[in-house]
Amino acid sequence: MTVKEILESLDWGPAPESDKFAREWLDQHGPSFGMYINGQWVTPESGDNFESFNPATGELLGTISQAGESDVNSAVAAARAALPSWSSSPGHVRARYLYAIARQVQKHHRLLAVIETLDNGKPIRETRDADVPLVARHFYHHAGWAQLFDETFPGYEPVGVCGQVIPWNFPLLMLAWKIAPALAAGNTVVLKPAEFTSISALVFAEICNSVGLPPGVVNIVTGDGKTGALITEHDDIDKVAFTGSTEVGRIIRKATAGSGKALTLELGGKSPFIVFEDADIDSAIEGLVNAIWFNQGQVCCAGSRLLVQESIAERFHEKLRSRMAKLRIGNPMNKAIDMGAIVDESQRKTIEDMCKLGCDEGGEMWQPSTELPEQGCFFPPTLFTNVSPSSTIVQEEVFGPVLVSLTFRNHKEAISLANNTRYGLAGSVWSQDIDTALEVARYIRAGAIWVNCTNQFDANAGFGGYRESGFGREGGREGMYAYMRPLSSETKTGNSDVKGKQKPSTESSTSSGAESVDRTAKMYIGGKQKRPDGGYTMDVTGPDGTVGQVGRGNRKDIRDAVEAASGATKWATTNAHTRSQILYYIAENLEQRSAEFATRISAMTGLTTEAAESEVADAVSEWFRWAAWADKYDGAVHETTMHGLVLALNEPLGVVGVTCPDESPLCGFTRLVAPLLAMGNSVIAVPSQSNPLAATDLYQVLETSDLPAGVLNIVTGIHSEFVPALASHDGVDSMWVGTGDVDEVQIASVSNMKRVWKVNMDASGDEFLRQSTHVKNIWLPHGV
Ligand code: NDP
Repeated sequence: MTVKEILESLDWGPAPESDKFAREWLDQHGPSFGMYINGQWVTPESGDNFESFNPATGELLGTISQAGESDVNSAVAAARAALPSWSSSPGHVRARYLYAIARQVQKHHRLLAVIETLDNGKPIRETRDADVPLVARHFYHHAGWAQLFDETFPGYEPVGVCGQVIPWNFPLLMLAWKIAPALAAGNTVVLKPAEFTSISALVFAEICNSVGLPPGVVNIVTGDGKTGALITEHDDIDKVAFTGSTEVGRIIRKATAGSGKALTLELGGKSPFIVFEDADIDSAIEGLVNAIWFNQGQVCCAGSRLLVQESIAERFHEKLRSRMAKLRIGNPMNKAIDMGAIVDESQRKTIEDMCKLGCDEGGEMWQPSTELPEQGCFFPPTLFTNVSPSSTIVQEEVFGPVLVSLTFRNHKEAISLANNTRYGLAGSVWSQDIDTALEVARYIRAGAIWVNCTNQFDANAGFGGYRESGFGREGGREGMYAYMRPLSSETKTGNSDVKGKQKPSTESSTSSGAESVDRTAKMYIGGKQKRPDGGYTMDVTGPDGTVGQVGRGNRKDIRDAVEAASGATKWATTNAHTRSQILYYIAENLEQRSAEFATRISAMTGLTTEAAESEVADAVSEWFRWAAWADKYDGAVHETTMHGLVLALNEPLGVVGVTCPDESPLCGFTRLVAPLLAMGNSVIAVPSQSNPLAATDLYQVLETSDLPAGVLNIVTGIHSEFVPALASHDGVDSMWVGTGDVDEVQIASVSNMKRVWKVNMDASGDEFLRQSTHVKNIWLPHGV
C-alpha cells in the first residue's frame, strides 16, 4: 500500500509488535518446561506433559509439565517447610521481596506482555497497557501491606499454606491477585495456572528466583483440572483461593466443605450494562466496546447484558452495530487490533454452541461482516436482540464476545432486570443524572459498580462477587483479610448435645401437668409468635427439673422463617440511625426486665442469681455496643489510579442463618444476632438448644421495640433436625455457626455457595462487622 493510498483510505496499517525477546526466552527455556518447586526447576515424576499452543496461529509454543500427586505433595511440603521462617520474617523483609518482584515485572514488561499474547491470544495492546501494568501495581501495593502488616492488622496472623488455582483469561494478573496478598500477609503458596496459559507463570517463577525469594515461598505447579483438584483437596493446605467458573467453584466448595480450609472464590458473572436515555451515548458505546469486547469478552465481569432505556434503544442499537462493524479482529501481535483470538478451539466451540442455542430460543443474532483470519480461533463480535429475560443466552455466562440486549422503561425496571441473575460480580450504569446513577448503583447486587465507566481495576480496591459469583475480595485492605485469620482462632463452640434425652411431646403436655395454660414458647416468625409446624414441643430442663417448653422446629418452620426474612429486606435500606435507635430500644426494654431474665437463666443453667444478672447486664451492654456500631462502620474512599472517587460501601449480606451456643444463652445470642441486625441483615436465629428460653423470652421485648416484622426470626428445637435445612436453603445468603458442626453446615450449603463463618466469640468487633457485610465498590470517574 502506498502512502497516498493510506492517506486516501485512512485505514490502519499493520503495526506488529516484535516477539524477538519472547522467542529467545522460549528457545532458552523450552521446548519442554519444568515446574518451580522449592526454588528448583523440576520435571514431573510421571514424566507426563501436554502441549501449549498459540491460539491465534495454532503454533506449538512448548510442552508443559503435568503435575501428579507426588509433585503436588512436594510443592505443598516445600510451602509448609518455608512457612515458619517466611511468616515470622519482619513485614519490612517481605515488603522488600514484593517490591523487588514489582521492579522485575516492570523490567520484563515487554517479555511478559508478548508471552501472554502468544499464549492467550489477547491483543498486545491489552497485555501491554492493562495486564502487565496492573500486575506491577499489585506487587507494589502489596509490598506496602507487608510493610504495614503489624501496625495495620494487629491481632491477625497468616492463614498458612495457600493453594491457588487460576483461569486462563488473565493468567499473569490472576496470579498477581493471588500471590501478592498471600505473601504480604506471610503465607506461602502453591499456585496452578490454567492448562492453556501456563507460560507467563513460569516467567514469573524465574522472577521469584532472580530476586532470591526463599525456596518454597512460591511454588508453581502446572497441569490440568486434575492437578487443580490435587491442590484444592490436599490435606496440608490451609487455604484455597480459586478463580474460575461457577461450576468448578461449586466442586471446590463441596470438596473443601468440612475440611477446615479457608476458602475464597472468584467466579463467573453476567453483569448488566445499563444505559439511561440521558447518558452520553457516544461514551456509553465506547464503554460497551470495552465492557464486552475487551479480551474477546472472556472477562468474568464483562458487561454482557446490555439494558438500554426503551426510548433510545433503536438509536443505540444502530450506533452499536456501526461501531461493531469497525472493530478490527486479527493477529493479536498487531498493535492496531481490537480483538484477538479466543483462547482455544474448545472455548470457541462453546461460544458458537451458546449462540446457536440463543437463535434456537428465538433470539435475533447480528454479527458484522468483518472478515476473520483464516487460521486460528477467532469469533466475531455478536449482538443478540429480541431475547426474553429468561432465555439461556441472557441468564448464562458465555465467556466470549457475545452481548445480549434488553430494554427497560424506568429505573425500577432497570434494577429489577439487573438483579435478575444468580450472579453478582459487577455492573455498569450510564447516566448524566447523578441521582439516577447513584440510586441504581446502590440497588444493584454486585461487588463492583462502575458509573459512566467500566472495567476499572486497581490494587487498592477490592474485587469480588455477591451470590453465585463467589465470596471474598481481592485487592486493597478488604482483600488482605482473605489471607489472614484472627490470632486466637479457636472457636468457643457450645456443647451441642441435648441436655438429657429430648423425646417428642405433644403441645398439650405441660411441665407440671397440672397447669391449664399452655406456656409453651412458640417460634418467632415474621414478627408473630407461631406454633411449630409439626406440633411438637420439647422440654427445657434445668438442674431442678423442667423449666418450660419450646416448639420443636422442622424444615417447614425454616422455610417460613426464610420467607419472612426475605420479605424484610427494607431493613437493609433503613437508615443506620434508625437501625441503631431500634437496637438501643431493645437494650432498654431488655434492661427493664433484667430480673425476670436473670431468674429464667438461673433456672435453666443453674447459675447463681448474681451470675445470671451479670449475664443479662452483659447482654444489655452487647445490644448497646452494636447499636453504637450501626452508624459507625464506615466504608472508605479508595485511592486508586483512576481520576475520581471509588466508594467502598459495607453492604449487608442479606438473609443470615445463625446457630447460637449454649454458653451464655442470652449474651451469646445477642453477640451473634445484634451485629448482623446493626449492619442491615435479616436474621434467622436458632437459639441455644439447651437454654432456648433466654431467646424466646425476648419476643415481647422485640415486639415492643419497633423491630420490623421478619427482620429477626427465631426457630427453636433440636438443631440437627432443621439446621441442615437452614444451611441448604437457597434463600439464605450466609451462615454463622456459633455452635454445632461447621463441617456439616458447609457441606449442606454448597448449592448456593453461601459464605459460612465458624464464629469466634472472642473475635474483635471489627471481625464481627466484617463478617456481617461485604464490600461494594462504586467507581465514579469525574472531570470536565
Ligand atoms: P475453570 O473453572 O474451568 O478453570 C479454572 C481453573 O481451575 C483452571 O486452572 C482449571 O484447570 C482448574 N480446574 C478445573 N477443574 C478443577 C477442579 N475440579 N478442581 C480444581 N481446579 C480445577 O474456568 P476457566 O479457566 O475455563 O475460566 C473461565 C471461567 O472463569 C468463566 O466462567 C469466568 O467467569 C470465570 N472467571 C472468573 C473470574 C473472577 O474474578 N470472578 C476471573 C476469571 C475467570 P485447567 O483449565 O488448567 O484444566
